[in-house]
Amino acid sequence: MDLDETRRGLQAAGRYMLDNDLAWGNAGNISARLGPDRYLITASGTRLGELADDDFVECSLDSPNSGVRKPSKETPMHRAIYDQRPEIGAVLHASPFYSTLVACTEMELSADLFVEDMYYLERVAHVDYFHPGSPELGAAVRAKAGRANILFLDNHGVLVYDTSIQEALMGLQTLEMVCRMIITAKSAGLELHSLPAFKVSDFLEKSGYRPRREWPL
Ligand SMILES: [Zn+2]
Repeated sequence: MDLDETRRGLQAAGRYMLDNDLAWGNAGNISARLGPDRYLITASGTRLGELADDDFVECSLDSPNSGVRKPSKETPMHRAIYDQRPEIGAVLHASPFYSTLVACTEMELSADLFVEDMYYLERVAHVDYFHPGSPELGAAVRAKAGRANILFLDNHGVLVYDTSIQEALMGLQTLEMVCRMIITAKSAGLELHSLPAFKVSDFLEKSGYRPRREWPL
């Protein structure tokens, strides 16, 4: 995608996230790949629901950014994903209520409740807490980048990445819905019926819902 199209895609994604409780306040930052070693990311101090045309910074994987505006201070973890996963086209970071609640617990998700859950949450990994924007958080994300497309950043929020902005949004929204479903069921005393493992693997291998993902790690 060219620069204008990518920027419009990110603006629409930011609005969608705010409108659908996938982000709140001024928290969160999002990016999309422009080429093999370049990506566009929201600038520091921007709000996802109202991203203007000049609220973005173009960054290179190789050299420090030299633009007028500063990229989001959480750039190190976006950069780690683009560096480790050449097929990834977009990275979304936010702290939606239910996913962040789960990121503040030891709860594990099993990806066996419904169609999108099985596909988008097939693999989920946790990253220990390090301060936002720190090189340590960037390194911790780098170490887990190949294991999953969804990372719980413990006591912080989530990082969701996929081949396109649309797919990453779908992953984020599915994650939030699953977390909400599990917590709502617990609160209401309902027992969720999980699909058995053989049906989940049959779905992933044979249903043709989406091409089977290949995981680097
Ligand atoms: Zn953050």
